[in-house]
Amino acid sequence: MDIASGTTTIANGRLIDGTGAAPVANAAVHVLDGHITYAGSEAGAPQVPPGTQHIDAEGGTILPGLVEAHYHPTYFNVAALEDLDIKYPVEYVSLLAAANARLALECGYTAARSGGSLFNVDVWLKKAIEAGVTPGPRLASSGREICGVGGLMDWNPDFRKIGMEGLVLLINGADEGRAAVRDLVKDGVEWVKTYPTGDAAAPDTNDHHTLCMTFDEMHAVVQTAHNHHLKVTGHCRATEGIKNALRAGYDTIEHGTFMDDEALELLLQRDVPVIPALQFEYASVVHGPDIGMPQAVIDGHQETLDGGTESARRILNAGGRLGMGGDYGFAWNPHGDYAKELSFFVEHVGFSPVEVIKCATRTGAEIMGRADEFGTVAVGKLADLLVVDADLQNEISALEDRSRFIAVLQGGFIRAGRLATVSVTDASRVR
Ligand SMILES: [Zn+2]
Repeated sequence: MDIASGTTTIANGRLIDGTGAAPVANAAVHVLDGHITYAGSEAGAPQVPPGTQHIDAEGGTILPGLVEAHYHPTYFNVAALEDLDIKYPVEYVSLLAAANARLALECGYTAARSGGSLFNVDVWLKKAIEAGVTPGPRLASSGREICGVGGLMDWNPDFRKIGMEGLVLLINGADEGRAAVRDLVKDGVEWVKTYPTGDAAAPDTNDHHTLCMTFDEMHAVVQTAHNHHLKVTGHCRATEGIKNALRAGYDTIEHGTFMDDEALELLLQRDVPVIPALQFEYASVVHGPDIGMPQAVIDGHQETLDGGTESARRILNAGGRLGMGGDYGFAWNPHGDYAKELSFFVEHVGFSPVEVIKCATRTGAEIMGRADEFGTVAVGKLADLLVVDADLQNEISALEDRSRFIAVLQGGFIRAGRLATVSVTDASRVR
């Protein structure tokens, strides 16, 4: 991805640097050639050369670009799970994914880790973003997901004669788990997304207390993936599924809903980050009745919301790491709502805005394995920054409102926000 040249300063705001440190009032951030050269009090800032671009934070907040840690670029705000694999062909889904990526960047998300993608779209979406063909977050790809036959993601009945190969690799046994990972290695993914457990969405045979993969299958996936330098994550709600994932060597845990003492201990032993994605559950409970969601499903989402909220609190209090990401891409939890996750954690889980911003920036970058490049406002890091006209310590929900964004910077370029100029497609990039 290109980086800007020249000098930029951002001043007249408070700095929340993503480390969890107390905000710095009257702060300034300086950028040279796409990298941060100063971050601290405006009074202590060095001189800048003539011709420097100045961004006025208008008394608001300067913070790192946000990281969506559980991003589904190909989920196109579907109303039903079946839509994900049979409604549109891959050609159209690819275009929708590019639109979702642009939207995420406009929403202040300068990086994102895919939590699964139809076909191999996110691998190629990443290439297009890196090449400057289309705007979007710095991506980590994961392609197709892995689930046991008959598990949560295996919803098409056999009589329909519909394959699931665009969405999931369905496995029976450790050998098929290894074969699935080898397919993904060839696809070029960085993360292997699996389904160790069920979910409230499937109350009949794969509810949130069921397992969808065996320990042997999960262990085979991890061994094969790690051998090829890929990381592994999984949809983990049921307590036993969380423990299986931690014992099998998973690199992150998605949801981590029903943690008991032993699961928490296993988690902390290896300091494995968890991405709870609670706003999805909240939205399901709130909007479920309007969209005809069965009561059993709504009840399951409520239990998931309660369990997930309690687990998130325990993880934070025990010194564990949480990433912010939220399964956006469903009709009742659409793309563009990403920052509602942060508001939920402040309003309903009891995190401070500074804590939740750390989860959404530094921890997100750590999850992506790129904390040395971005995720905090520190000298030497890429200038992936967000400038908002609000005091986020008192108004975290301002992050939900793009009209409050003065600038979204990525590698020092103003990519979105009120100061962004309209981009003109560079035809030379399209190759
Ligand atoms: Zn997901």
